[in-house]
Amino acid sequence: MSEPNAKRRIRHYDPSYLQFGFISSPDELKPPCLTCHVCLANDSMRPHHLKALQFSKHPTEVRQPIEYFSQKKKVYLNQQKSFSLFTQSTDLKCCTMASYEVSFLIAKLKKPHTDAETLIKPSLLACAKHVLGSAAAEKLDKIPLSNDTVKRRISEISQNLEDKLVRLIKDILISIQLDESTLGAESTLIVCMRFIDNDCIKEELLFVDYFECRCTGQDISKMVDPILTHIRLV
Ligand SMILES: [Zn+2]
Repeated sequence: MSEPNAKRRIRHYDPSYLQFGFISSPDELKPPCLTCHVCLANDSMRPHHLKALQFSKHPTEVRQPIEYFSQKKKVYLNQQKSFSLFTQSTDLKCCTMASYEVSFLIAKLKKPHTDAETLIKPSLLACAKHVLGSAAAEKLDKIPLSNDTVKRRISEISQNLEDKLVRLIKDILISIQLDESTLGAESTLIVCMRFIDNDCIKEELLFVDYFECRCTGQDISKMVDPILTHIRLV
């Protein structure tokens, strides 16, 4: 009679199991089947059991030469490698997308770039660790959210929005509205533009800048003309 508390024996893979269509797993404890890719329980890794499994599940594989299984092993390992590379590139893409979205939110809410590194990421990791588990936290830890990265992302997003806007208004008529305002003790110029896009009147902020001298028409012209030239409006 077996003792309930007896220590269970750990079985290790033997290269001779290849003849039954099983190869070693990375931990050598749960060998995958080369035909159906199911991983066996460690306790099932016994020659007579593997032989019986092959006989009942994959009878056409019985007594195939060892070269046949070696070739199948090669194909299987190549597939695993390709899948691993695909997963890594998908993870990288997801992390980059998340990084851009967080950077965009920071810019929209006018928060400091450092918030991503000092507040947002630690908060994400703490929530993931306690709610989703340490594996999820490890995954989220790969999202690039350093101060420099967020600054670079915001700059790229801003440039992209400007490029899109310039392309949109390149061949259409627009009107410009200029307003003087104050930001703290500084005098500022706000320039907005209106245009028609898909039968809708749209308004976009073109730029905001500080007056370096007085607010005469000549000063305003000096500020606005280079911008309009830059975006090829004049
Ligand atoms: Zn199988």
